[in-house]
Amino acid sequence: MKNIKKVVLSPHYDDFCFSLSGFIKAEEHWHVINIFSQCNHIADRYLKCLTGEINYLKITAIRDQEDIEFFKLFDGSRENLGLKEATLRGSNPFDLKYLNEVIGELSKVLVPRLNQISAKESSVIDLYCPMGIGGHIDHLATLLCIRNSLIDLSKSFNFYFYEDLPYASNPTMRQKGLSNFSANFHDSIQFLNRVNLLNDSEKFLKSKFISIYRSQHESEPSFDRFSIAHNGHNARFESVWSLINI
Ligand SMILES: [Zn+2]
Repeated sequence: MKNIKKVVLSPHYDDFCFSLSGFIKAEEHWHVINIFSQCNHIADRYLKCLTGEINYLKITAIRDQEDIEFFKLFDGSRENLGLKEATLRGSNPFDLKYLNEVIGELSKVLVPRLNQISAKESSVIDLYCPMGIGGHIDHLATLLCIRNSLIDLSKSFNFYFYEDLPYASNPTMRQKGLSNFSANFHDSIQFLNRVNLLNDSEKFLKSKFISIYRSQHESEPSFDRFSIAHNGHNARFESVWSLINI
């Protein structure tokens, strides 16, 4: 395996692509950890085209395959952590009743895995973590697992928190998500925002990437749902907040 300089925590198969694929540069290698990689969520439109018995193993295989297809298009490596996504656990993804239990289960596997990765690397790794905008329990559990281990992990990782798309494309949801995000950290912790304005060729490429995850789209995906509008301008961007002090 190549030296790992960038690790992305992708709660579900599509989150890295939907939220960050405009950041992919040809010369950089990305290692992605798909966390809740056993799944049963699939768009009705796609479900209608399937034949035979449909169960979570089949849906997981379809989604895994889409992800493999995406990874053929850039320099990346991937691994699946194998946890069950919210709907497969029998929960409403936006009901946070069991959030602490999910964080507990996740911390047992994710933190040791990150330590294992960093032990093999001589330099500090950039870790990209979702911000939980939109309030999906799997995204929030990922954020809070990292937040809870911030001090320990900071010896080996720089932290970057990415705005979750498509949720952050909705201005109201984004505003609420950003303030909920900062409320999870001590007041003394500071973040620096870096936006990635997407030019026409990047938009074209990202649209192509998004469409690979065909099992997740109820209709043809519109690029605007997978980017954030620049106030008063036509421009669209993705957004990352780096942690500059603990
Ligand atoms: Zn997700």
